[in-house]
Amino acid sequence: MKEGFFDFKLVRRRFKRPFLTGNGLIDVIDRILLRTQSDQGTGYGEIAPWPGFPTESLPEVLEILRAAQGNLSHLLHTVEAMRGLPCLRAALSSCRHWDAINQLPVTLPCAGLSDATATNLDAKIFAGYKTIKLKIRPETTFTEIDALLYRFRGQLRLDANGSLDLTAARAWAEFVRQQPRIDYLEQPLPVGHAGYASLGPDKIAIDESFLTPGGVTWAGPIVVKPALVGDWDEFLTWRQVRRGPLIYSSTFETAIGRQGALWLANHDSSNLPVGFDTLDLFENDARDRHTPGPVAENLANFDWEKFWLDLT
Ligand SMILES: [Mg+2]
Repeated sequence: MKEGFFDFKLVRRRFKRPFLTGNGLIDVIDRILLRTQSDQGTGYGEIAPWPGFPTESLPEVLEILRAAQGNLSHLLHTVEAMRGLPCLRAALSSCRHWDAINQLPVTLPCAGLSDATATNLDAKIFAGYKTIKLKIRPETTFTEIDALLYRFRGQLRLDANGSLDLTAARAWAEFVRQQPRIDYLEQPLPVGHAGYASLGPDKIAIDESFLTPGGVTWAGPIVVKPALVGDWDEFLTWRQVRRGPLIYSSTFETAIGRQGALWLANHDSSNLPVGFDTLDLFENDARDRHTPGPVAENLANFDWEKFWLDLT
């Protein structure tokens, strides 16, 4: 995939309801969809940064793409000569592996994403999710979580998005470690907080604190967002030597990003539920094409060229 052409489309997606991220509520999210054409065929990728993660911004990527003027080798040389750019590198990895991405069926267990309201949780239980992830805030109480565990007989994952202080994080860590039906507490403290060392890795997952494999020493669970992780081949090499669970998670990609991300997740033999319950959260824009539910499957025999042409 050295000589060739590329083009791209900037798409804006609007959430049905404001969505809570580590950086607060958002209404819309922008993505760049990338198509490469070379002697290895056509590839697709998605540049999908996520609020709260220190990747490159879309304006930075647009500047690089526009400067390369559709020339794929110019683009690849530019990226090679620069540091960072994890989202663009991930998207180029997807383009490079696009044939393989569409070859094998992928079927992975998927965790449901719920807020702590009973109605929302009941909908997820009814849909058949065996694992449900909940966002917690500093005001969330143990009693509330106990009540949810009583309603839902499966596994819970709790995500604080870095909102706790060390005293609260310690108390939550203890609560989670005593409850076998809670898989882990995700990102209790802000990124870079020294308190992680004293919390310890047992059932403490990092999400915002992880971006790409370089220099990461956390022994506990790590949430991997394929769209943010940088070059996928480098990631797969690191994954072979990494101990401790990896949980693959969405950045609310369109069908292109999701297809590639599920392929990457499928390399892991752990079979832990992935965090891809992100469909149907947007206003209907025809950019979701996979089927929502407790099993995340890729698309088979899908007409990606038509999908590309239909993007407005
Ligand atoms: Mg998270």
